[in-house]
Amino acid sequence: GAFGGNKVDYVFKTVLIGDSAVGKSQLLARFSRNEFSMDSKSTIGVEFQTRTVEIDHKSVKAQIWDTAGQERYRAVTSAYYRGAVGAMLVYDITKRQSFDHMARWLEELRGHADKNIVIMLVGNKSDLETHRDVSTEDAKEFAQMENLYFMETSALEATNVEQAFLTVLTEIYRVVS
Ligand code: GDP
Ligand code: MG
Repeated sequence: GAFGGNKVDYVFKTVLIGDSAVGKSQLLARFSRNEFSMDSKSTIGVEFQTRTVEIDHKSVKAQIWDTAGQERYRAVTSAYYRGAVGAMLVYDITKRQSFDHMARWLEELRGHADKNIVIMLVGNKSDLETHRDVSTEDAKEFAQMENLYFMETSALEATNVEQAFLTVLTEIYRVVS
């Protein structure tokens, strides 16, 4: 286990994908360091962050990759997806367009990644309920159709962030163990 030693039983590469400004970097900051910043520039240049969690008495190191602004130039390369066993497909619940682009991101992901990859659809910024532009029902329907896990999160309020990442990691663990 993780306690009292540095032994790592598993390393699970997980990638964050989705349009720019949906909150990918802040979801990662929240999960890996329990931090949040309103300044979106603060994490540009970061390749990945890690956090080790305990699943089923095993030490699981989550290595979570962030696009670090590449999505603005459609330059997410196959190296980014290589070896990924998990993916978070992130949209902003206040930006319909970011949700409408999910199909395209999913296609890109499925074209590059392992066929057993665990994918979660994440509707971020759930704290901005008054500006909601994507209903929970629409997202659930898409997730069901495409066989994805689904959760709404707020990196700002730390709502469901832990649950979203832990669900993906636990499902990966079930696949590989
Ligand atoms: P990325 O381009 O997908 O990595 O998006 P960022 O993580 O840089 O976030 C873009 C902007 O949205 C920043 O100003 C963040 O502070 C803000 N943001 C991220 N997550 C949330 C959230 O859950 N709620 C709110 N209200 N703002 C958020
Ligand atoms: Mg970012």
